[in-house]
Amino acid sequence: TTVINRIAAGEIINRPSNALKELIENSLDAGATSISVNVKDGGLKVLQIQDNGHGIRTEDLPLVCERFTTSKLRVYEDLQSIHTYGFRGEALASISHVSHLSIVTKQAGTDCAYRAHYIDGKLAPPKPGASADPEPCAGNPGTMLTAEDLFYNIPSRLKALKNTREEYNRIYEVASRYAIHNSGVAFTCRKIGAPKADLNTLPGATTISNIPHGLWTKRPEFSFRGYVSSATHDMSKSVMLLFINHRLVDHTPIKRALDALYSGVLPKSSKPFVYLDLQIKPEHVDVNVHPAKREVRFLHEDEIIESYAIQTTLVKGPSGE
Ligand code: ADP
Ligand code: MG
Repeated sequence: TTVINRIAAGEIINRPSNALKELIENSLDAGATSISVNVKDGGLKVLQIQDNGHGIRTEDLPLVCERFTTSKLRVYEDLQSIHTYGFRGEALASISHVSHLSIVTKQAGTDCAYRAHYIDGKLAPPKPGASADPEPCAGNPGTMLTAEDLFYNIPSRLKALKNTREEYNRIYEVASRYAIHNSGVAFTCRKIGAPKADLNTLPGATTISNIPHGLWTKRPEFSFRGYVSSATHDMSKSVMLLFINHRLVDHTPIKRALDALYSGVLPKSSKPFVYLDLQIKPEHVDVNVHPAKREVRFLHEDEIIESYAIQTTLVKGPSGE
C-alpha cells in the first residue's frame, strides 16, 4: 500500500508550487496574518512555510499526516457548507508520502513548541535510533512546515521537474496571487540564502491597490469583485487570477469568455491583467472534483459568466469610462 499511497500522493502533489498552494491554504485556515515562504532549488530541496496561525495541538501531531484526517469537517452535512479551504485531509498526508516532512508548531499560550518528523503519513524518528515522538523545542507561536527532498522516491517525477528556476517562478506566482487576494496578510517569498525577499507585502498594502478598477456586486446567487488593468508587467501575456470562494482555481469557460471580451476591446499590443474574486454558495460548488485538478465546476456557470454585471465591469470598469 505504500506504493499505492505514493502514486496517489504524486497525483495530488505534482510539483512544488502545488504543495505550496495547499500549505498556504492551511496557514490561512489557521488564521495566519503573516506567511513566509523559503525555498531552495525551486522547492525540490527545501520548501518551507512559516505562519503565525493558531498552531496544532500537541495531541493532534501524530494524526495530521494520516490520510483523510482533517480538523475542518466534523459531520457529513458540513460538506454542504465548506467555508475553509481544507476538508479532505489529503494534503499533508500526500506531502509526507513524497518528501521528508517536519513540523514545528506552537499554540498561543502554551509553554513550548513541538517538532515532529513524518514519513509516509506517520511520525518518524529524525535520525535512526531516535524516538519518533514529537519533541519540545523553541519556536514562535504558529506553524512551520518544511518539506525536504520532494519526490526523492519518485525519480521519474524528479527528472521531469529538473528546471528549478521554472519551479521557483511557479512558487512565486502562487505566493503573489494569494498575497493579492489576502491583503490583510503579510507575505514573503525568498530563496534561502538570498540577500532579500522576492515578494514582501505589508498587510493592507498589496499590489491590488495599484490596479485601477474595482467593484463589488452582490446578487442572490453570487457576488464578485473584479479588477482589471490593460497592462501586465511584461506586456507579453495576459494574466488572469481567478479565486472562487477564496480558492485559487482555473476555470476554462471563464478564461475563454474573458479572452473573447478583451480581444474585442484591447489593442493587440496590450494584454489584460484580470483579478476576479467570485463568491458562490458553497453548496453550488462541486467539491468532488479530483483534488489534483485546479479546475472547478459550479452550478449556473453560464448565467454567471454571461451576467451583464461581470461583463461590463471587466470591460469598462465600475465608473463605465
Ligand atoms: P485539510 O486542510 O483538508 O484539513 P490537510 O492535510 O491540509 O487537510 O491538513 C491536515 C490538518 O492539519 C488540518 O485539518 C489542520 O488541523 C492541521 N494543519 C495543517 N497545517 C496547519 C497550519 N499551518 N496551522 C494549523 N493547523 C494546521
Ligand atoms: Mg489543507
